[in-house]
Amino acid sequence: MTVETRETHGFQAEVQKLLHLMVHSLYSNREIFLRELISNASDAADRLRFEAISAPELLEPDPELKVRIEFDTEARTVSIEDNGIGMSREEAIRQLGTIARSGTGDFLSKMTGEQRRDANLIGQFGVGFYSAFIVADRVEVLTRRAGAPDSEGVRWESDGQGEFSIEGVDRPQRGTRVTLHLREDAAEFADESRLRMLIRKYSDHIAFPVLMKGKGGEGEAQEESANTARALWTRPRTEVSEDEYREFYKHIGHDFQDPLVWSHNRVEGKHEYISLLYIPAHAPWDMWNRSGSRHLKLYVKRVFIMDDAEQFLPLYLRFVRGVVDSSDLSLNVSRELLQQDAVVETMRGAITRRVLDTLDKLAKEEPEKYATFWKEFGRVLKEGPAEDPGNRQRIAALLRFSSTASDNPVPDRSLADYIAARDTTADDPLASQKVIWYLTADSFNAARSSPHLEVFRKSGIEVLLLTDNIDEWLVSHLHEFDGWEFRDVKRGDLPASKPAEEGEDKKPAATEHSALIERMKKQLDAQVSEVRATTRLTESPACLVLGEYELGAQMRKLMQATGQAVPETKPILEINPAHPLLQRLEEQQDDTHFADLAQLIFDQASLAEGGQLEDPGAFVQRLNRILLG
Ligand code: ADP
Ligand code: MG
Repeated sequence: MTVETRETHGFQAEVQKLLHLMVHSLYSNREIFLRELISNASDAADRLRFEAISAPELLEPDPELKVRIEFDTEARTVSIEDNGIGMSREEAIRQLGTIARSGTGDFLSKMTGEQRRDANLIGQFGVGFYSAFIVADRVEVLTRRAGAPDSEGVRWESDGQGEFSIEGVDRPQRGTRVTLHLREDAAEFADESRLRMLIRKYSDHIAFPVLMKGKGGEGEAQEESANTARALWTRPRTEVSEDEYREFYKHIGHDFQDPLVWSHNRVEGKHEYISLLYIPAHAPWDMWNRSGSRHLKLYVKRVFIMDDAEQFLPLYLRFVRGVVDSSDLSLNVSRELLQQDAVVETMRGAITRRVLDTLDKLAKEEPEKYATFWKEFGRVLKEGPAEDPGNRQRIAALLRFSSTASDNPVPDRSLADYIAARDTTADDPLASQKVIWYLTADSFNAARSSPHLEVFRKSGIEVLLLTDNIDEWLVSHLHEFDGWEFRDVKRGDLPASKPAEEGEDKKPAATEHSALIERMKKQLDAQVSEVRATTRLTESPACLVLGEYELGAQMRKLMQATGQAVPETKPILEINPAHPLLQRLEEQQDDTHFADLAQLIFDQASLAEGGQLEDPGAFVQRLNRILLG
């Protein structure tokens, strides 16, 4: 009857790649196909219930939303059927033939053929519908959009080899039926007790009944629900097992891996809502896309409203996934209304604090998991102090940095650790102030060998090493922590490291070398704003110092990268007159030699900063002249 309307389409290239990877890398975990297909059926039921808020007739004549699993051992088939929203022909072509989620294509193109790695990669974006092909060599989908006439049914079919066919069929019932023709080696899944076990294991939390026919001899066997069919978040915490929480996460998070931690709360009183918030164990590939989707599902009185309710969380917590179910909002609430809603505003504040508390607890109780969190999401959290000044201190307590206290480049030092380790009773003006000293650099190694650390090493003062390119910006929004002020070791005047008791050797030093300083200033006038004797160095000949209010190198780079004009500034050159090179310079009578050496000392100092030389060729010639001279 409808042969004419049958068409064949090729899968999008990414889909083929995904199919291939999936069949190979998930073989040992292939039972998850059932979870994925039931998850889709449940999503379809959720969507229909949502559309039915404004069009209740969509639910007729079959108002009880449910999922049904059938199997035929002989024919080696399993089918998953729902009476949810269904798909139109166009939707089936698009949704089952392409990967809609933006960025997936890019992501897949980065994949290598190496299987172990790929199995992990695949876990980063959920597997979804295509997991059917792990166990089936032919998949047939019958579907009809709710509200469409019977004649607009659709039959989609594929063997997962690069093409699918699509044709129009009559379909009296709405919703979708996915039939798997199992591979020979997957015949074990066409079995009642196996299926029941899998439903219990993976889909017990699904909020709709998942029906299966009981084994009944001859006549029609009774259908019964194989799951609890209660929205998981509505159940008391004490009645939900860890495994159930994890499985629920995989369903709503479209993630294949377990979450790191979660927080489940029922709030009563002025506003009533339930939140179930998960912290994933890995960053999604689209995390840096700040307009990318967020993953908090909104329900109102158990009815699904939307997938990415971004109004309930600030951007710097965009990695959180979960469910919020409000009893106060209206079922007709729209994205626009959410934006101005006072209830939403209050909930957002409370949910934000809930997430920060969860992280705080994780940091204290499970430091290893917190280290994973920090590795995956630390950089996003650093956006927090700027975006959410009200929670600045809370966020600051969660930050982790590298520091001179350890040889380990992994940032694991908290500000509280830093403060606890500092001895402010020491008789040393550098140590006695409540100052969190930090140094910014491009890398951990560059930071560790910076001449600016010399005086701090000598005085035994810890310095935080900030090597993330947004750290300087971050610190500028932190201002202080627990009454301690942040200070850049490269910036401004440093208090003399030791009290100038014995013979006040500090000030005279400056005047003593004033002739040298004047001469160098003249020589380097175009490059430095000032030359002065240092309080920072013990071993190196010289270093560059920033004015108190000047932008640091990281900020300049950030601004340049975003096309902003960066003001021209000249650094201060601090010299260590006790260093043999400076002593040699001081004795130098020959003006040409003096010029070469002075310039070289300046160039060295900027190289040690990780800076770039303006004229590397001239530097090399100068260096050679000196080496040979
Ligand atoms: P995801 O569930 O993460 O969106 P899937 O690969 O599982 O990804 O499914 C892809 C899309 O196919 C879904 O987003 C949905 O639009 C459509 N789809 C899959 N199964 C069904 C179903 N049973 N009913 C309606 N639409 C479905
Ligand atoms: Mg899915």
